[in-house]
Amino acid sequence: MFSGIIASSGVAIGKAFVLKEAEFQISDGVLDSSEVDANIARFKDAIAKTVEQLEAIRDKAAAKLGEEEAEVFEGHILVATDEELEEEVVEAIKGLKPADAALSETIATNVAMLAELDDPYLRERVADIKDVGRRMVKNLLGIDMASLEDVAHGTIIIADDLTPSETSQIDLERVWGFITNIGGRTSHSAIMARSLELPAIVGAKVATDCIQNGDTVVLDAINNKVLVNPDQSAIDSYKTLQAQLDEERKELSKLKDLPCTTVDGKQFEICSNIGTVKDTEGANRHGAEGVGLYRTEFLFMDRTQMPTEEEQFDAYKAVAEAMSDRPVVIRTLDIGGDKDLPYLDLPQELNPFLGWRAIRMCFDKPEILNTQLRAILRASAFGKLKIMFPMVISVEEARRLKQIVADVKAELTSEGIAFDDTVEVGIMVETPAAVMVADLLIQEMDFFSIGTNDLTQYILAVDRGNEMIADMYDPMAPAVLRAIKRVIDCSHEAGKWTGMCGEMAGDEHASLILAGLGLDEFSMSATSIPRVKKVLRSHKYEELKVMAEAAVNQPTTEDVKALLNDFIARH
Ligand code: PEP
Ligand code: MG
Repeated sequence: MFSGIIASSGVAIGKAFVLKEAEFQISDGVLDSSEVDANIARFKDAIAKTVEQLEAIRDKAAAKLGEEEAEVFEGHILVATDEELEEEVVEAIKGLKPADAALSETIATNVAMLAELDDPYLRERVADIKDVGRRMVKNLLGIDMASLEDVAHGTIIIADDLTPSETSQIDLERVWGFITNIGGRTSHSAIMARSLELPAIVGAKVATDCIQNGDTVVLDAINNKVLVNPDQSAIDSYKTLQAQLDEERKELSKLKDLPCTTVDGKQFEICSNIGTVKDTEGANRHGAEGVGLYRTEFLFMDRTQMPTEEEQFDAYKAVAEAMSDRPVVIRTLDIGGDKDLPYLDLPQELNPFLGWRAIRMCFDKPEILNTQLRAILRASAFGKLKIMFPMVISVEEARRLKQIVADVKAELTSEGIAFDDTVEVGIMVETPAAVMVADLLIQEMDFFSIGTNDLTQYILAVDRGNEMIADMYDPMAPAVLRAIKRVIDCSHEAGKWTGMCGEMAGDEHASLILAGLGLDEFSMSATSIPRVKKVLRSHKYEELKVMAEAAVNQPTTEDVKALLNDFIARH
């Protein structure tokens, strides 16, 4: 048994599928001349097997994502069947190199040669050759390639880490949960797990060491426990817990259409965070009063090129229509940090979270933002959309962004294209800089939404995805609470509103402090909505205000929590 960090609550019982990069050793000996033919035959078998696998992947991709997306695998097949490569390897084997060494050295030489060339097309081929080469070497050595594609019904994925794009490939029919060695509660795979309503524990450090393929695993993301091959009585008691959770869910669903109003009549807006059009289903099911954060970057992932203006327009319009007259805050592309887009060929950075991320990249690639804003504005004619920019640090940036919106509006007007001219424009407050100049920024903007996932990591200087310091990452730290209070106060002084779309907003206990500080809108994973609503509906705003004022004046995080626990116990 071990534990980690609960990324998405729930209980799952299933069979482990360990997504582990197998380690392998390349032979370093010399062949006897009698072994040459057999080695050439093994190499040719490996080519055949690789082509067979790639064709299957290509067909699946074509069926799931379309022919255009499947083209990349055509390229992979061309690499695997490249005659020159084949000849070079065969020559090396004839020179008495074992097949695996001959193949991996030939791949390495080709990669080094292409990487020297200053041609983006060939640089892209380097990645293909490396990828296909690794597959061929593994096939040669008889090592199975792990893939999320073909897992069985009732699988719990065990991995060192899952990238957001791997997480988005998960088929919910077959996968019932996942456990990773690294990551924190606000790493993006964790956030996606919550939107998928998939139980998950991250940052468990030892998951891939303790669990073998096929083990029975109980993933208890309620009490933060992972049980490996437990006895029948433990499994039975977990089945009972699952049934209780279902029951509780049914009870909470009765609140769906009730407003989030405190006992003394103060109303808060409760919205959902979404990453895809499909997430609006969960938002509607759980009674969201709007979308407080649409993370558009997921629309850009799992593909080989930028979505076009038309594709983006379709997605934004679909979200606007799915929420009908309720507001939808669309955040512009926030790529970088832990979110990569392979086709953009982003540089490796030493500090990606402090790097070329979000609007910083969009300022340097204006066509990306221009296309996205055109699509959002066009879709604004079909619902109640708002535009939000991530990672803003200064008034200069805010003004520049406003100017870009104005330019795009002028462009659409001159083309005679309809849009909602009253669309609100706001920013995420997720950098300490934005907090410090919140009073100035709000003069430029219609609203703020506090991104506590990043704000916590930047204020406390604690990486949000690093499990080694996960215990230091706490939005309840007085430093973070004071920042939140300042942002809300600045917006209210200017007669504007502040929401929160960081994960803190969905924490039912923290929500009491946030409500007491006067936060106007709470946006969270759809599954958290009923609980937060229940808690806020059972308190008095006047009492929450007094408690929150005391909370921001506590000297330590522990004191904040003690005060909050005492308040909860007394109410
Ligand atoms: C945040 O930083 O709090 C936020 C909501 O944005 P993301 O988690 O996508 O960085
Ligand atoms: Mg953020």
